[in-house]
Amino acid sequence: MHRLDNKVAIITGAAQGIGAATARLFAREGAKVVINVRTDDDRAAALVQEIGPQNAMVFAADVADHAGVNAMIDATIARFGRVDVLVNNAGINVFNDPLKLTDEEWERCFAVDLKGVWHCCQAVLPHMLAAGAGSIVNIASVHGHKIIPGAFPYPVAKHGLIGLTRALGIQYAAQGVRVNSISPGLIMTPIAQTYFNSQPDPVAARQRQADLLPCKRIGEPEEVAYTALFLATDEARFINATDILIDGGRSQLYHE
Ligand code: NAP
Repeated sequence: MHRLDNKVAIITGAAQGIGAATARLFAREGAKVVINVRTDDDRAAALVQEIGPQNAMVFAADVADHAGVNAMIDATIARFGRVDVLVNNAGINVFNDPLKLTDEEWERCFAVDLKGVWHCCQAVLPHMLAAGAGSIVNIASVHGHKIIPGAFPYPVAKHGLIGLTRALGIQYAAQGVRVNSISPGLIMTPIAQTYFNSQPDPVAARQRQADLLPCKRIGEPEEVAYTALFLATDEARFINATDILIDGGRSQLYHE
């Protein structure tokens, strides 16, 4: 018995980081997984080999591309016959000073972090509604709750994603579909490493972030994946239209 036996899950942006950790964990718990990647490459192929090709498939689609997302859902149904869980994980950091932001940066941020999620929800919802069951888990951010100056407009998109989660969760609650989000704090993934590497002293920058956390350590991708697993399963069947913050307590800290 596994927690996701007989379930089919699509995880977007699953080539690395939180998405890859979620795909691995879901597969270990018995799910068939669709590994969405922006562009197909060695990372996705290695992940399929690790999970086992009978239980996983890769589909390359930019979540901002509506037609590509629709094709991914069609391919999922053709291969596995159903879709029970959607984890909208694909996301990009667009951090700028508001008055230095270009239109292109604004549009790309919203196209991936908000509209891309909507494309995936729109494509899976008819299948979940027809089945009378489904769980959608959106990876938002602590930036959807708190503001860091100079990180604009990422928090605007993540606030919107939490709003989308609530709206869809309420809309479809009576038809068996739950929609929730997870708001991670700092998690040690390639995108976080890229940020540290951009700092004059990457080791000191990482230590400074760890020191800011009440638990004095940065989160791990698998810790987000376990929260997504819980929300995906029937164990969380009364949890809907809400957000789970997982940030080691940092967002509750006033000051030390
Ligand atoms: P990551 O290491 O950058 O991984 C994100 C993945 O999403 C990458 O594999 C990327 O593909 C893919 N992706 C980006 N744009 C895409 C698109 N348009 N279509 C399909 N896939 C796309 O990031 P992460 O840290 O694991 O973050 C995952 C999610 O958690 C994001 O939504 C992020 O906002 C959120 N989050 C992260 C943290 C953190 O501290 N790490 C904290 C809060 C929230 P490529 O590799 O090909 O670019």
